[in-house]
Amino acid sequence: MDIPRIFTITESAHRIHNPITPEKLATLGAALRLDPGARVLDLGSGSGEMLCTWARDHGIVGTGVDLSPVFTEQAKRRAEELGVADRVRFIHGDAAGFVSDAKAKVAACVGATWIGGGVAGTIELLSRSLLPGGILLIGEPFWRQAPPTEDVAKGCLAHSIADFLLLPDLLASFGRLGCDVVEMVLADQDGWDRYEAAKWLTMRRWLQANPVDAFAKEVRAQLTSEPVRYATFTREYLGWGVFALMPR
Ligand code: SAH
Repeated sequence: MDIPRIFTITESAHRIHNPITPEKLATLGAALRLDPGARVLDLGSGSGEMLCTWARDHGIVGTGVDLSPVFTEQAKRRAEELGVADRVRFIHGDAAGFVSDAKAKVAACVGATWIGGGVAGTIELLSRSLLPGGILLIGEPFWRQAPPTEDVAKGCLAHSIADFLLLPDLLASFGRLGCDVVEMVLADQDGWDRYEAAKWLTMRRWLQANPVDAFAKEVRAQLTSEPVRYATFTREYLGWGVFALMPR
């Protein structure tokens, strides 16, 4: 069980696999007013930065589930490094359908809502692990500005304009799904640069270390085209945020 190898290559040096920065992740943790001992579930936990830093800063206990063995290993190492290995647990596996036995105060899926088949399905899935009065966290892209054409949406690596909503429409959609939006922390273009531009140096170094790897051609092509594609499309058109929701 693994994710496509290209992600493991391009994001191998990332601690956060999303446009949110360490500072904004800390802002989010503080905004949620987490109590020590609060249980946090994270589906698609990546390299575990959210759970590990919140365990260190707020004393939460956490469980993360992720399909990537490489990222899950990184998460375990990060927990050791931050001295929170006794408080956070990282499980390698498919999070689709994952419901925790111990209900959580916070149930999150940050930048991986395909796990529940989209935002609506992910809210439904996370709700099954949530304590009454708990908070759902959804990390999701939205359009900063409406793409004028379908080609612009594709330039942002979306399938179509319909993949994402404008921010007010996304917030309204949470209401229609029966949730109050109780907090949000939005990424900005600098955060997008940290997520996207960090891949370029990783790719360049990987190519230097693996010149004859079967994947080298694909990585070479991405490194050549990505900076201009990103600056033309994603950086201008795509927003991203983490939304805190409470079922009504
Ligand atoms: N939430 C993390 C990671 C986001 S990237 C962060 O913000 O840093 C998306 C993550 O979802 C990747 O780590 C990928 O390995 C994981 N993933 C993809 N499909 C998954 C699935 N079906 N079950 C669990 N994790 C999955």
